[in-house]
Amino acid sequence: MSSVVDIAELSRRADFPAIPDGWHYLDTAATAQKPQAVIDAIAQAYGRDYATVHRGVYRRSADMTIAYEAARQRVARFLGARSADEVVFVRGATEAINLVAQTWGVANLKPGDRILLSQLEHHSNIVPWQLIQERTGVAIDVCPLTADGCIDLDAAEAMLTDRHKLVALAHVSNVLGSVLDARRATELAHRVGARILIDGCQAVPRIGADVAAIGCDFYVFSGHKLYGPTGIGVLWAKAELLDAMPPYQGGGSMIDRVTFAKTTWAPAPQRFEAGTPNIVGALGLHAAIDYVESIGLPFIHAHEAALVRKARAALSGINSVRLFGPEDAAGIVSFAIEGVHPHDIGTILDEDGVAIRAGHHCAQPLMEHLDVPATARASFGIYNDDDDVAALARGIERVTRIFG
Ligand code: PMP
Repeated sequence: MSSVVDIAELSRRADFPAIPDGWHYLDTAATAQKPQAVIDAIAQAYGRDYATVHRGVYRRSADMTIAYEAARQRVARFLGARSADEVVFVRGATEAINLVAQTWGVANLKPGDRILLSQLEHHSNIVPWQLIQERTGVAIDVCPLTADGCIDLDAAEAMLTDRHKLVALAHVSNVLGSVLDARRATELAHRVGARILIDGCQAVPRIGADVAAIGCDFYVFSGHKLYGPTGIGVLWAKAELLDAMPPYQGGGSMIDRVTFAKTTWAPAPQRFEAGTPNIVGALGLHAAIDYVESIGLPFIHAHEAALVRKARAALSGINSVRLFGPEDAAGIVSFAIEGVHPHDIGTILDEDGVAIRAGHHCAQPLMEHLDVPATARASFGIYNDDDDVAALARGIERVTRIFG
């Protein structure tokens, strides 16, 4: 899958109406563009089939409920979950992690307990645990990285003790593209009796995830990075954990019976979905998963890996460029240019129709580790091809000429 011909064949730009000719979208790690199939599913849901779910006694609402629950089934199959009851719809990965922290975390963590995170985590897998640290007195440890920017699982093994109750790690780094050996991380956590949460935001659209094969306890991701809509995401958790977790938010749909004397909760996953859910978001996510699987994650991964190799090769030929992350990164390349702020790189590239991200990428502890205030980041998706890599390289050469 690494030849130019294969890549050209795989590029699916024609499926994405918001990517005009001559525009090089290299910010998929922030959010993916949407294929027509997803746009159509959303338009159809609002324009033809729309009604509420779970409450209506009329046919349209019953049909919408079936479609909403079919989306849950689709997510379960996509993740290799045992049951759709293990899938909770949330706004995104951020809400999923906050949900676990504020329900499972508050119920299970106490002073003396420890959590292991890593140096490369996104703020959404750091700050919720710090909020819980204030409420529960749990201590937070930080696993270091290897020289090429992977979570150092040998170090994790040495750090973990039976006081650790949770390990929470990114499956793929949103800055470096480095891939976690999620199965080994899970074994290490379980060996000391800790639970493990895996942040799959960048993994799900690039390498996929099989929660049964990994053996993890919690897995989270956002729909919008998987070519689906914003405002919908997934918390997957083992049924026995979800069943034992207290509610997250109170309101309609999450109850069994409400009286002023005592209210009882609905079973999971409804217990965690208070209020009218993002009905159309779930349907859009269903369409996105169908779209991604119609192409196949092994192909997508090979396609992005080839683009990463080419981008790294092109950029490493430019003297002042410093590349971060491993050679075999999943779809993401971060870099810096000596003496040039990443925001200037981004602005100059934009003049050439090349859209990259510049900043700390919601990973300030990682920036500190890399000893830079920010990086420039190019991230690929299934619509990118060699032309995008060439435009990136041309743009970077122009930046180095401008800054002399
Ligand atoms: N984790 C990682 C690794 C991410 O890349 C992101 C999004 N940049 C998040 C968590 C948070 O996702 P969201 O903003 O969709 O909740």
